[in-house]
Amino acid sequence: MLVSINHGETGTVIYFKGCSLQCPWCLHPEFISPDLEIVCNRENCIACRECVYGCPQEAISLNENSLYRKTNSCNLCLNCVEICPSLVFSTVGERQSCKQVMEQIETQLPLHSQTASQVLFTGGEPLLQPDTLIHLLDECGKFPLHRVVSTSGSVPTSVLLQVAKRTDMFLYTIRHMDSDVHQQMTGQPNELPLHNLRELSATGAGVQIRLLLIKNVNDSEENIKATGAFLTELGNRNAIQLLSLDDIQHQTVRHKTGLSLRIQHLIPDEKSILEVKSILEAYGLQITSKVK
Ligand code: SF4
Ligand code: SF4
Repeated sequence: MLVSINHGETGTVIYFKGCSLQCPWCLHPEFISPDLEIVCNRENCIACRECVYGCPQEAISLNENSLYRKTNSCNLCLNCVEICPSLVFSTVGERQSCKQVMEQIETQLPLHSQTASQVLFTGGEPLLQPDTLIHLLDECGKFPLHRVVSTSGSVPTSVLLQVAKRTDMFLYTIRHMDSDVHQQMTGQPNELPLHNLRELSATGAGVQIRLLLIKNVNDSEENIKATGAFLTELGNRNAIQLLSLDDIQHQTVRHKTGLSLRIQHLIPDEKSILEVKSILEAYGLQITSKVK
């Protein structure tokens, strides 16, 4: 299993590597691939050439202070990560057993009891590693922990329903009601995630539905009305969360410099968010958003 773990004010967050979608605005692109990856922070390079000499694959070159690493040649021996004196290289993801993950969750339990006792499984897509996820959820169930799973729903229905039996709350993000556009947005059609959301809602599982608004991609009146009609059918009792990439970026503990600029043009303005909210409310839905 490849994971990354963070302990925040609201509890522990377990990031699974590997995702079934490929959204261009992904805030965690380092979690799309299921494999271990090396990232380079080139600005820190002092041009000492230790990595060039230490790489057994001759995958690293340094010319006129420009550092280049050929990922095709790299065998992930991690020598460069260990020998670079300026910490230019770092790994994304870590192979950890369920036991190791649980040990880290348990170290936070005293802290949890004073604040919110929550463990969030996210990614990537945690349901792509069902055996591991189910095992961890069962283990977490032995403690006073609120178990939250974030998903896109583009996963086998049987897996989702098994996970639902040991999950207190899902964060379920929907993206577009037109399957062709959804495919262009994410690389996957929308039939499966919409079907799964119907199935999950029918079980009475706790589901926090989130609509991620992307400017000029899914905020058209036509799509919002189709979304409202779909959500009304579900009869979900929790308020729908209206989010922009900006909201998610502020929520994430893995905020990265420069990300704001990359996504700025995709963030709807307050007026558009209020219009979307008002269209959805006309369907009798309860909507929460940062914009009041
Ligand atoms: S070892 Fe680190 S600091 Fe030295 S050249 Fe390589 S990347 Fe730069
Ligand atoms: S991980 Fe190993 S093979 Fe890959 S670039 Fe670093 S030193 Fe070379």
